[in-house]
Amino acid sequence: MKIKCVKIDAIVWDNVPKKAMVRRFFDVKTNRFVSIADLVADVYYDKNVKPIGVDGGITAHNIICNLQNMGFDTLALGVCGNDFLGKISIRSLTDCNVKNDILIRNNMRTKAYHIRRIIENGRYTYRSIKYCPYCKESSWYEGSCIDEKSIIKKIKEDDILVLDNLNEKNQYIIDNTKNIKLIDLGTCDEFENLSKDQIIKKISNKFEIVNLNERVEKYLIQKLDCKDSIDLSKIFSSKLLMITRGEKGNEFVFKAKKYCFPLKKIIIEVDDSGAGDAFFSTIIKNWMNNDKTISEEDIEKWFNDSTKLINKILRLVGSRRHIKKMYPIKKKDICKEV
Ligand SMILES: [Zn+2]
Repeated sequence: MKIKCVKIDAIVWDNVPKKAMVRRFFDVKTNRFVSIADLVADVYYDKNVKPIGVDGGITAHNIICNLQNMGFDTLALGVCGNDFLGKISIRSLTDCNVKNDILIRNNMRTKAYHIRRIIENGRYTYRSIKYCPYCKESSWYEGSCIDEKSIIKKIKEDDILVLDNLNEKNQYIIDNTKNIKLIDLGTCDEFENLSKDQIIKKISNKFEIVNLNERVEKYLIQKLDCKDSIDLSKIFSSKLLMITRGEKGNEFVFKAKKYCFPLKKIIIEVDDSGAGDAFFSTIIKNWMNNDKTISEEDIEKWFNDSTKLINKILRLVGSRRHIKKMYPIKKKDICKEV
């Protein structure tokens, strides 16, 4: 092994596993993780709808921020508008030390979740909407605005791709690259109006590890005439299928066998955004540190490892708050009408 001295970035060392520290110190080459997604900003409001902060968001890019914080080499690819929320979303990636190459389009606005603190059943919780709470206008658009062909040119053959959506442009990248792919699928929108065979073609044999939420799992089981999650895992043909069941914990399907882990201690959560991203990131970290192999004995260890980070994130507001602070924001940055 060729050993050379490398500059060590300012990182939070207690979050970095030993293997990652060794990797960084000796500059050992490992695969780079590349996230692909349209940028989305998370704007937080207090209970009186006064803005309290903003940060970059969306699953694929949140995962890449976590992986960078765990000591891996990363790159974020995507698109945003030439606006305040776009600039903040790019800055957030940079401040998380994630290299990024984001296309800025003049004719579009950056997508945003508007997340408001409310009191429910006597405790604080957060609700998100896709439109401005003042003028009710939305910057969301259907599908994706990424430039899929230029993204493919930026991907190296040993990069590992991290995705969270099966829109047409992502699907083009999935179908036209041979890279290892990981997907955290939180929505079934892209399957509407598709036949069973078309859906199978989209998802079968495409991903090494798949994470679904319960809603997407139920939808796919019904639409693809599966008996259960084991049946569904056979369609994906992934090494590992995971289903996140909120307070009920997590299910892993490995080699046609189910492993279920209920949450040991349900903490009174503050903000659950980012918890799923942290879970998947921890599983990816363990898989990577295990030379991209999985065995039956690993699963419970990996699940237990994820609960530490999840419990920390549930107590903090914002998906990246465990890595860095949110940015201040004023009403006029969000809305022209105030
Ligand atoms: Zn507005």
